[in-house]
Amino acid sequence: MTDKNSNLQTGNPQSAEDKTGNPQRGKHKTESSQRRDHKTESSQGTERKPEDSQRLNHQEEKGKERRKSSAGKAYQKIDHPIPPLYDKDSRILILGSFPSVKSREAAFFYGHPQNRFWRLLAQLLSETFPETVEERADMLHRNHIAVWDTIASCEIVGSSDSSIRQVVPNDLSVILDHADIRQIYCNGAKSHEYFHRYIEPETGIKAVRLPSTSPANAACNMDRLLSDWRQILIPLKAAPAGIGQVLLKWYDYNARILPWRSDPSPYHVWVSEIMLQQTRVEAVRHYYDRWMERLPDVEALSRIPDDDLMKLWEGLGYYNRVRNMKAAAVTLVEEYGGELPADYEQLLSLKGIGEYTAGAIASIAFQQPKAAIDGNVLRVFSRILAESGKISSAAVKKSLEREVLRVMPPDRPGDFNQALMDLGATICLPNGQPLCDSCPWENICQAHKQGEEIHFPVKEKKKARKIIHKGVFVIECEDRFYLHKRPGTGLLADLWEFPNLDGSYTMERARQEITSWNLTDYELESIGEGKHIFSHVEWHMTGYYLKIASLPEQVRRLFEQELHWIAVSRREMEKDYAIPSAFDMFRKRMR
Ligand code: SF4
Repeated sequence: MTDKNSNLQTGNPQSAEDKTGNPQRGKHKTESSQRRDHKTESSQGTERKPEDSQRLNHQEEKGKERRKSSAGKAYQKIDHPIPPLYDKDSRILILGSFPSVKSREAAFFYGHPQNRFWRLLAQLLSETFPETVEERADMLHRNHIAVWDTIASCEIVGSSDSSIRQVVPNDLSVILDHADIRQIYCNGAKSHEYFHRYIEPETGIKAVRLPSTSPANAACNMDRLLSDWRQILIPLKAAPAGIGQVLLKWYDYNARILPWRSDPSPYHVWVSEIMLQQTRVEAVRHYYDRWMERLPDVEALSRIPDDDLMKLWEGLGYYNRVRNMKAAAVTLVEEYGGELPADYEQLLSLKGIGEYTAGAIASIAFQQPKAAIDGNVLRVFSRILAESGKISSAAVKKSLEREVLRVMPPDRPGDFNQALMDLGATICLPNGQPLCDSCPWENICQAHKQGEEIHFPVKEKKKARKIIHKGVFVIECEDRFYLHKRPGTGLLADLWEFPNLDGSYTMERARQEITSWNLTDYELESIGEGKHIFSHVEWHMTGYYLKIASLPEQVRRLFEQELHWIAVSRREMEKDYAIPSAFDMFRKRMR
């Protein structure tokens, strides 16, 4: 078998077979190639009788005459001199008819300077125009495009397609057996004619005819070529060229006005992006302003006491984010003079900064062409490309990231990333029907064309979250309230909470619990039920307001020394103790 792990492979069918020693290859030959082999064998027949020779000489003479075209030019019998270009990752195959004289001289495809093939592909794929054969081969390889021709040998005058006769078709199995070809395209009518006549009947595969890029088809201008050839991007899962500029035009009029955008310093971008993870923009605005007042730079962040930092973050959730920010700030002060580095790899090395945040800082603050891929961007790109692979797959993510980078306008990478964020947040919505009528990419979006927007991205079935039931006690005694500090590791580490116990609680069970504390004089009221959803766990809570007029010393000792609860005033609670939003509904019921 051809080595599927090798990179770009070229070689005509025979040489590929020789090179790989594939014992199966003969089996996979199409009938056309068998016919070609048979024809070759016949022409190499062994003995000729004199009368046969005479007849053959006569036929050869007639043949020579026929080999003159009407213009007096000689027909030449030519075997295809250029090996197919493909590799195991090729997804589409583009077939011409037969190489021109210039291509034959260059021993590579589409070598005629006026042939628009390379210019067309470069524009469609947002690539720089490839000048050399190596650059052209690289571009095809990078974009999973295989190239060959329909004709293996023929008689031809110069490179005139119309003069072609005595056609022997190419055996495409060399490519089809070794690459994941999803669609075959014919560059021009001639190629399609030969495909339809010789290859389709034997393979059962249909090819799509595209207008020829040849100079002979000059009547078809570049705009028309671009429009018709754009369809090759669909099986390539490649975003059409130019859509980055279209998005930027939309962004220029529709960008959200956000506090961190007026001065996109590296620190501002960093803080805002960390706050925005898992949190809505509207919720973040107020936190961001408060943060910048208290911690205007990296150095201030590196010095803030942990409890104050938690209080500043209280309600934003995912508290590890802010712990990591402080740790990164300490590193920045110690090793980078208190500034965020421009280098992407150095950004990535900082605690809590992953690829998304590093990409956002590098592109928005330092104008580097880095992608910032989050769920919003994946959703938008999976829709415009109708990506059918599971979005959780690393390969799918990688290929979508490649497309983001491909269409990113090099002069405005930061704006492009922010435009994508805005598009994902305001138009290409995650839940329910996206607002395609207002989308700048409505015309090129494959999911929209199929009316299947909400079916993308393709997701894994979610695992059911674990449900934990809890009884939560808001305990008031002499105008103070009891709080408990959560353990230093795990969920909501080191944050403060109302005393709570695992289990399904009813009023009766709550009373039993209170009795076990040896408390007899109290008022107990149910304050409702609440649910808080974490990524893997749900808390289903039942709350009770326990008012104690005077706490017996023995019970105080139990609360404060054994259970490690502390009593704080309402004001202290507001000012100094970070309580996660999971308890908000009970906190609101404090009288
Ligand atoms: S057309 Fe609709 S589905 Fe497609 S990117 Fe735009 S909003 Fe999303």
